[in-house]
Amino acid sequence: MKITDIKATTVTVPLTAPLRHSNGAHWGRFVRTIIEVETDEGITGYGEMGGGGESAELAFAGLKRYLLGHNPFQLEELRFKICNPTASLYNNRTQLFAAIEFACLDIMGKKLNLPVHQLLGGKVRDQVPFASYLFYRLPNEKGEAEVRTVQQLIDHCRELKNQYGFTVHKLKGGVFHPDYELECYKALAAAFPQDKLRYDPNAALSVEESIRFGQAIEHLNNDYYEDPTWGLNGMRRVRSMVRIPTATNTVVVNFEQLAANILDLSVDVILLDTTFWGGIRACIKAAGVCETFQLGVAVHSSGELGIQLATMLHLGAVVPNLAHAADAHYHHLVDDIIVGGKMTYENGAIQVPEGPGLGIDIDRDKLARYAELYRELGGYPYDRDPSRPEWFPLVPNDRWADPNA
Ligand SMILES: [Mg+2]
Repeated sequence: MKITDIKATTVTVPLTAPLRHSNGAHWGRFVRTIIEVETDEGITGYGEMGGGGESAELAFAGLKRYLLGHNPFQLEELRFKICNPTASLYNNRTQLFAAIEFACLDIMGKKLNLPVHQLLGGKVRDQVPFASYLFYRLPNEKGEAEVRTVQQLIDHCRELKNQYGFTVHKLKGGVFHPDYELECYKALAAAFPQDKLRYDPNAALSVEESIRFGQAIEHLNNDYYEDPTWGLNGMRRVRSMVRIPTATNTVVVNFEQLAANILDLSVDVILLDTTFWGGIRACIKAAGVCETFQLGVAVHSSGELGIQLATMLHLGAVVPNLAHAADAHYHHLVDDIIVGGKMTYENGAIQVPEGPGLGIDIDRDKLARYAELYRELGGYPYDRDPSRPEWFPLVPNDRWADPNA
């Protein structure tokens, strides 16, 4: 089997409302690039990457010289063709390779009439549990769906819990002063005493502020304490002073960092991202290292549509040591580009796809509609806040948004 072409289409799909985070916001939509890898046997595989536009489409087009004629089953060879570690000093293609790996696995599964999880060792669970992902939100175009006050946050959490069945809640923080976010976090704990909580301010806090915040929530039903501060050394200092497992999706995102973390422990739970790590297979390999050293594993979300969500489900299905609910932004989207519409949650979990390959298909009409919407709206700066045009954060930050504004 040979790869004959690769197509990339950037789309934008609306969110219920703009999602705020420590660096800015998702401005009411996600921008993703969908790829289609074609073969000489008429089988097409799908992949997805975050961000997009002309540059992403051209980046994939530029990989044709590496891909055309390559057998999609020869994934390990392809990794070295595209992601040779020393060549990558000049040209880091990890995220591009991840999208191509998804498509190649999709092709393999379709050719063999097997779901991807069967190619990856076989599933050990039928559903993957997810955490609610609570964001402070700006009002949407209708002036609705704002999450800013403590009561709005509690209401939002209850709405998501009732609708999807979540029993683990992750608060994305780093937007307001830590004292205000502490009040919010404690209010969530009081409102949902049976449920587990995670706090993730995207490394916005200083080490000292992280220790203060962490010690103030130690007695609550915490799942883990995610990236309170920046850097392995900062996280190590926090970990030495706070009795909550630490977690990261920022300072351990490759094998070099994983090794460094194991040799001098800073982070207890590694959030694996099928894009950041360079594919589902790299995540499984990292999960194996974590299993050996008895580190925790969870699944990170970098803002997925259905194709990427499928990669997260196949990953979650085959990793035995997944002791934490996965993260997904998925329920903040109003639609998806896959056939059948958005995948559904039941009791806070999503069923692992059982069809051949990734087990999802692209809805051509929706792909065209959301590609058109992208052409209309363009990209947005992820690290800017539309409500504070002049603002940018420091790390650690001290330029917090005003919860009364
Ligand atoms: Mg995070």
